[in-house]
Amino acid sequence: MAKKEFKSESKRLLDLMINSIYTNKDIFLRELISNASDALDKLYYQSLTDKKVKVKKEKLEINLSFDKENRLLTITDNGCGMTKEELEENLGTIAKSGSLSFKENMTKEEKIDIIGQFGVGFYSAFMVADKITVNSKSVDSDEAFTWESEGADGYTIKESTRKDRGTEIVLKIKEDTEEFEYSKYLDEYELKSLVKKYSDYISFPIKMEVTHHELKDEEKHEYEDKKEIETLNSMVPIWKKDKKEVKDEDYNNFYMDKFNDFDTPLKIITSSVEGMLSYKTLLFIPSHAPYDYYTQDYEKGLSLYANGVMIMEKCADLLPDYFSFVKGVVDSEDLSLNISREMLQESHNLKLIAKNIESKIRKELEDMMKDDREKYMSFFKTFGVQLKYGVYNNYGQDKDKLKDLIMFYSAKEEKLISLAEYVKAMPDNQESIYYAAGSSIEKIKSLPQVEQVRDKDYDILYLTDYVDSFAITAIQEYENKKFVNVESNDLDLETEEEKEATKKINEGNSDLLKEMADEIKEVSEVRFSNKLKSHPVCLTSKGDVSIEMQKVFDAMPNEMGIKAQTVLEINEKHPIAKKLKELYKKDKEEFKNYTKILYSEAKMIAGLPIDDPTEISRLICDVIAK
Ligand code: ADP
Repeated sequence: MAKKEFKSESKRLLDLMINSIYTNKDIFLRELISNASDALDKLYYQSLTDKKVKVKKEKLEINLSFDKENRLLTITDNGCGMTKEELEENLGTIAKSGSLSFKENMTKEEKIDIIGQFGVGFYSAFMVADKITVNSKSVDSDEAFTWESEGADGYTIKESTRKDRGTEIVLKIKEDTEEFEYSKYLDEYELKSLVKKYSDYISFPIKMEVTHHELKDEEKHEYEDKKEIETLNSMVPIWKKDKKEVKDEDYNNFYMDKFNDFDTPLKIITSSVEGMLSYKTLLFIPSHAPYDYYTQDYEKGLSLYANGVMIMEKCADLLPDYFSFVKGVVDSEDLSLNISREMLQESHNLKLIAKNIESKIRKELEDMMKDDREKYMSFFKTFGVQLKYGVYNNYGQDKDKLKDLIMFYSAKEEKLISLAEYVKAMPDNQESIYYAAGSSIEKIKSLPQVEQVRDKDYDILYLTDYVDSFAITAIQEYENKKFVNVESNDLDLETEEEKEATKKINEGNSDLLKEMADEIKEVSEVRFSNKLKSHPVCLTSKGDVSIEMQKVFDAMPNEMGIKAQTVLEINEKHPIAKKLKELYKKDKEEFKNYTKILYSEAKMIAGLPIDDPTEISRLICDVIAK
């Protein structure tokens, strides 16, 4: 029979599995058992909604058996099974949900990272087996099929005589090598302890025939071997166990298995609510973002169980978008088992649970920020953007819930601080919260406007994420302190006398300034200012759209034409001011050239592109060549 090729990405993943870069080979068993358990869940759920499918929950089970002599390990379930198409689709290809692209020259760590984030799944069995045979009969079909593969060079699918619904996976265990004893997967004691370690919480019985040495004759010290089918797992879902009896390691194993992560979670959050509405939750904050987290493919949601039975794998309604990174399980006795998805959305109970979960996560994060700053920083580095996005999303309706969870870089502290910390450290005479935006800390530091504020010993929040300015604009004020962009033109840091003096200079030179503004057109105003210490010029903005926000709008695919209203400010104390006044009287042509050069300088400092660099470069050369 002709062999079918694996899709190319699957092939590469298989190569990695066969050559076993994954150090923990043991996990293959939990992956296969989890798949079996999912298949049982699916079948049971189907039986609740489809009258044609009849199953008894007590009959659903997973079986393990091994044959030392022929080196075979078999995992069987009587779950939903797979049709021919499903075998092809599910086992012949990987990377259904995202494109898993293996780059050449990736380091071993990077490869493990990708595999881990992807979830090793079924393919992990190739770490321990030379050949895998999957025999399956779907609940939706009368025919059974056998899928078989010896690794990366392909697989075959043919009809099978299997009578029973469900799936049987037979692994031909590799021969032992000097480095690794594969035979341990054919050992009763070893298999028992692997199940206990990784799959104890599985809610269906995992059965295996075990041997008991029983004392036959006490006097003669004679024993006899008795074989007996035993259930290896305790079957109590981990979230239903008494918290005191569960070790962090157990939670971690459960998390890594259920949510396909190679890394332990950053935070485990458990809760148990009793009352009018009773439910248990077991939530996890991952320690790194899933590989597809910042793409459209990512689906948020928590697994929803009705009294131990999974009714939905990813219930999106249980999590707000800004906490979409949270993984976990919710189990309630007060949800009906055969509730449809639409009804679920309308469910009052579900809404209440979602609301409580939201506050619980928020509280845990607030506590983490207070009590374990290092951990919070690590969290914020990974998911902070999502929180800041949450602040301004939906017209800022959630900003009050999130404003105490976000952090910005403080010029004074040279690290991320919260808004509360900023306000607490404000000197008595400081009225506003100052911020400055740019593409990097270094660039912001060198903004001319920053100097003036820092001179007063006021702290400035440096915003480097594109979402930052939008978040700050949405919050508007914190503890009655307004946010003020140092790049806005009415900073109001001058004394009354200084203000008066500037006003006078501007009034006295209104013709000159108007002519400059007419020459540039893009700016709404040109003015002299005394806010600049050493720099000759800067660009500031009036109104709601800051220069930083304009950059974000400019970068959007369908340009919306939203522009900041800019002001070109010229340092009145700089020699250039005198020069301009001279040229204005004597040489109008040169005056215009100077205007263009100065405006380009201001744009450059603000990080905006110059429309005609060639012309500006020519103008500068003309001036310096004189
Ligand atoms: P994942 O479980 O993360 O989806 P796997 O590679 O482990 O990825 O499995 C791929 C798919 O194959 C599963 O999603 C499931 O649809 C199907 N599958 C695997 N094992 C079984 C099984 N024992 N019974 C039914 N379907 C299975």
